Amino acid sequence: MSRVCIVGAGFTGAVIGRELAEAGIASLIVDERSHIAGNCHTERDAESGVMVHRYGPHIFHTDSERVWDYVRRFGEFKPYVNRVKTTVGGKVYSLPINLHTINQFFGMAMSPAEARAFIAAKARMDIEDPQTFEEQGMKFVGEELYEAFLAGYTRKQWEIEPSALPASILKRLPLRFNYDDNYFNHRFQGMPQDGYTRIVEGILDHPLIELHTNCRFEDLTEDFEHIFYSGPIDRYFNFDLGRLAYRTLDFEMIRADGDYQGTAVMNYPDSDIPYTRIAEHKHFAPWEADQMEKTVAFREYSRTCGPDDIPYYPVNLVGGVDLLKAYQERAAQLKNVTFAGRLGTFQYLDMDVTIDRALDAAAAYLQQRAVA
Ligand SMILES: Cc1cc2nc3c(=O)[nH]c(=O)nc-3n(C[C@H](O)[C@H](O)[C@H](O)COP(=O)(O)OP(=O)(O)OC[C@H]3O[C@@H](n4cnc5c(N)ncnc54)[C@H](O)[C@@H]3O)c2cc1C
Repeated sequence: MSRVCIVGAGFTGAVIGRELAEAGIASLIVDERSHIAGNCHTERDAESGVMVHRYGPHIFHTDSERVWDYVRRFGEFKPYVNRVKTTVGGKVYSLPINLHTINQFFGMAMSPAEARAFIAAKARMDIEDPQTFEEQGMKFVGEELYEAFLAGYTRKQWEIEPSALPASILKRLPLRFNYDDNYFNHRFQGMPQDGYTRIVEGILDHPLIELHTNCRFEDLTEDFEHIFYSGPIDRYFNFDLGRLAYRTLDFEMIRADGDYQGTAVMNYPDSDIPYTRIAEHKHFAPWEADQMEKTVAFREYSRTCGPDDIPYYPVNLVGGVDLLKAYQERAAQLKNVTFAGRLGTFQYLDMDVTIDRALDAAAAYLQQRAVA
């Protein structure tokens, strides 16, 4: 009997492969990169010893017990709380916008109730049902905080006026009237002690999984029982209808002795600074950071994704979903192909959602196969 093909050895492909393998189904997993773990790939920098997240910093956070239990089967997670800072107009503030940020920004010492009333007076309550990022920001925090902390960063990240971006992007950012500066609200948060690549390696370690890196799906000639495709959906169809829009990132490496910026992530929303943030990766592993004499940090620049660039963030404009719909309609005609993951579904997906959906996709396939 023929086996299943899984395109991509990121979390999506690895989890699907593992679930099928545990149900007795063999698969071939291919990835065109020279390594596994997709965009979550981590590796030790030879010069400093720092565990570097090659495609940008990744923090694991989830509310799903199923996902939290799943990843911890394959490696130890150390406690980690993401605390992000931002430099605005030459001053450093705390994120996400919390009571400290509000008091620092307005030079006050308000209590939670006072700050709530203060922001309510500034917020644009006349915007009833915000459709755009700009409307959501204005309704949420008022013009001054919106311009200082949200609008500039967003313009740099997307090179699009916030009035053309959907409100959903901002719905994810919390506003707090206390001093809690934990960036995420989820119950479980942590960092894999030996990096994400080691976790994915563990997931892929099964005798029914054959893995080929440096291997493009397009170059395969074997017939497969089913294909799980976690590559870009438009690429599957040879970009026949045109290319879906993505943002890509450029990372500029900074090497230094000791501690470069004293924290893992510093945002730079001001328009006169070309990068969006600097991430210093040793601070993502606080349990070992002190042992390293050298450090590496990365300035992150966002720009339009060209044909030869790595697609990072799908660009979802207000009203701009026609091309995606057209590809999805073609995809729905293919009974032996499942499109999955961030590129296969053209969606920003955090790692926990990626794993959750991959578990569901494998379960759906197993169920359908059992019925057939
Ligand atoms: C900058 C950035 C920061 C992020 N930070 C976080 C974070 O802090 N926390 C969090 O939870 N999530 C974060 N994410 C999201 C996280 O990266 C995704 O959840 C995860 O990468 C999705 O895994 P995936 O397997 O679907 O896709 P990918 O990791 O992209 O894997 C897909 C793989 O398929 C391969 N491939 C594609 N097409 C082909 C082909 N035709 N042939 C062969 N191989 C192919 C690619 O080489 C790639 O390795 C971040 C994302 C970005 C962009």
